[in-house]
Amino acid sequence: MAAKIISGTEIAKQIREEIKEEVKNLKEKYNVTPGLVTILVGENPASVSYVTGKQKTAKELGFYSVQDNQPADITEEALLTLIDKYNQDPLIHGILVQLPLPKHINENKVLYAINPDKDVDAFHPVNVGKLMIGEANYYPCTPFGIQQMLIRSGVQTDGAEVVVVGRSNIVGKPIAIMMAQKAKGANATVTICHTGTKNLAEHTRRADILIVAAGRPKAITADMVKEGAVVIDVGVNRIGMTSEGKAILCGDVDFDAIKEKASMITPVPGGVGPMTITMLMLNTVKAAKVANGIA
Ligand code: NAP
Repeated sequence: MAAKIISGTEIAKQIREEIKEEVKNLKEKYNVTPGLVTILVGENPASVSYVTGKQKTAKELGFYSVQDNQPADITEEALLTLIDKYNQDPLIHGILVQLPLPKHINENKVLYAINPDKDVDAFHPVNVGKLMIGEANYYPCTPFGIQQMLIRSGVQTDGAEVVVVGRSNIVGKPIAIMMAQKAKGANATVTICHTGTKNLAEHTRRADILIVAAGRPKAITADMVKEGAVVIDVGVNRIGMTSEGKAILCGDVDFDAIKEKASMITPVPGGVGPMTITMLMLNTVKAAKVANGIA
C-alpha cells in the first residue's frame, strides 16, 4: 500500500495559525510583540532567499521584524559590535545570523557572541549543552520541525528503533539526541550513521523511523528500508533546472520507490523545509515570553 504523505506544508500552516493566535494574545494581554532580527552579510543569492523567506513569515505572523543587511567586507569586530547592539535591544528577542559568513569572519566567534536567550537558532554552546542534558530552552529549528511532524502525524516514537543518517551539528546530532531523550515524541532507541558506518543498509533496514540528512540525492533506496517504516527525508539537493530557470529539487531518499514500502514519508519539497522556518518563529515567540517573564 502506498505510504501516507506527511505534508510539512500543511503542518507548518497549522502551527503558523497557532503562532498568530499567540502573537495576538501576547500583544493584547502583555503589550509584547515578538521581535526578530535577521543579519545578512553580503549578497549570496541562496542566503538572500532564505532571509527574505524568514522576514516574510515573521511579518505575516505579526512580529516586529528587522532585516539588517551588511556589506561582504564588514570586519569581524564591526559584526560583533552589531550583535552586541541587538543583544541590548529590548525590542529584539531573537537574533539570527544567516550562514555562511565570508571567509575572513570566524563564524563560531560570531554565533557565540549572541546572547543565548536570544539564540533562536539554538547554535550557541549553552543551548547545545542544555539540549544534551534535556533542559533545552530552544531546539534547533530543523530537528524541532522533524519532531513536531512525527508528533502531529501520530507516529509512535516510544521504544521505536530510530536510525539517523548524518551527524551534522545542525541536523543529525541534535535530532538523534532529541529522539533519545526521555520525553514526549522521543524515548526511542537511536542509532547514528555516517560515512564511517560499515554496512549502512543493515542499520537502515532495522529502522521503524528513518531520518535521513546526508545531502546525497537518493542515497537511500527501497531495499534499505523496512516495510511499514516512517521515512523523514531532510535532504535538499538541486539536481537541475527547469526551462523556466527554477531549481529541480530532490531529497536524500528514492521517494517514488520508497513510498510503496513505507507507512509514512515526507516529500521534497514540501516536507521538512517548510517546518524549519516555522520553528524559528516558534522559538522567537518563546524568547519574547522568556524576556518578559511570561510562562
Ligand atoms: P552535512 O553537514 O553535509 O552532513 C551530512 C552528513 O551525512 C555527514 O555527517 C556525513 O557523514 C553523512 N553522510 C553523507 N553521505 C553519507 C552516506 N553516503 N552514508 C552515510 N552518511 C553519509 O549536511 P547537513 O547540514 O546535515 O544537511 C543534510 C541535508 O539536509 C542537506 O541536503 C541539506 O541541504 C539538508 N537540510 C535541509 C534543511 C531543511 O530545512 N529542509 C535544513 C538543514 C539541512 P560524515 O560526518 O562522515 O561526513
